[in-house]
Amino acid sequence: MNTAVDNKFPGKDVSLDDLENRLPLVAKKSPDHKTTFTCGGVEIGGNLIPILAGPNLAETEDMILECAKAMKKAGAHFLRAGCFKPLTFPYRSPKFYETRENGLKWLKLAGEAAGLPVVTEVMHIEKIGIVAEHADMLQIGTRNMQNYPLLTEVGKTGMPVMLKRGYGCSLRDWLMAAEYIALEHDTLGQEQKILLCERGVVSNHTHRATSRFLLDLQVVPAAQELTHLPVMTDPSHATFWQPWVKSMMLASIAAGADALMLEVHPNPPEAAVDPLQCSSFEQFEDMMNAMRPVAAAIGRTIDA
Ligand code: PEP
Ligand code: MN
Repeated sequence: MNTAVDNKFPGKDVSLDDLENRLPLVAKKSPDHKTTFTCGGVEIGGNLIPILAGPNLAETEDMILECAKAMKKAGAHFLRAGCFKPLTFPYRSPKFYETRENGLKWLKLAGEAAGLPVVTEVMHIEKIGIVAEHADMLQIGTRNMQNYPLLTEVGKTGMPVMLKRGYGCSLRDWLMAAEYIALEHDTLGQEQKILLCERGVVSNHTHRATSRFLLDLQVVPAAQELTHLPVMTDPSHATFWQPWVKSMMLASIAAGADALMLEVHPNPPEAAVDPLQCSSFEQFEDMMNAMRPVAAAIGRTIDA
């Protein structure tokens, strides 16, 4: 039993007709149908709940190396950082910037030095090649979830993809976007390496003036009911407020999330991007310790 509606006309929710005819690759075929794949030696979609942690922006070579070592020490499984950033306004300054190709170089070196696979965002079709050379997983940001030519070209690399949910998009839109990538993986004759990431949706009520989004925890079981792909959450971007991140990490595990992402910075008030949402190294370690028993309570683990 799932919640797909029995409606042959396309609507806002997923229909049985969608599952059969528009989502043939990402739709679950039986109740225990679940995809697992490995990325950088880490299994995703299995018993382990991988933690993807790191700063919003790979700010400098030293900074990302310091982060990588701290993430590894605290038990993270992936190093995440942005280099090409979808920044909300076009003006750049010493305090608000991207590090682009330089950031990619620093990020790859830092990941190698710490022994962590790397996840970073790709925004431009013409940069897919260079981003792919420096990353183990490609991230599609919320703002590009429905950039279909980008999805197709990223899919053609055959690399693992983290597909963030568009902050105004339905579960149906999200699964259809995943199907674009799945189609390319299928054409390559390989398994689907797609990790769906809920990162907060637009809502009237977000409980704090600076919080732009609301974590849609309910979409975790809802998505898992319809797709075999692993589903994760990103409480940092969803809450936009660090004091709420820990409880939403724990709640995500309880809700069945297959992975978690969070933003960590050596000195959060000084973070170049999104300082209100990022956690310190100490806060991250504390969260890792709090997550262990919650994962154990549902028969999963955060320890590789
Ligand atoms: C990010 O992960 O740094 C990011 C920009 O996320 P989102 O696309 O969810 O805003
Ligand atoms: Mn960010």
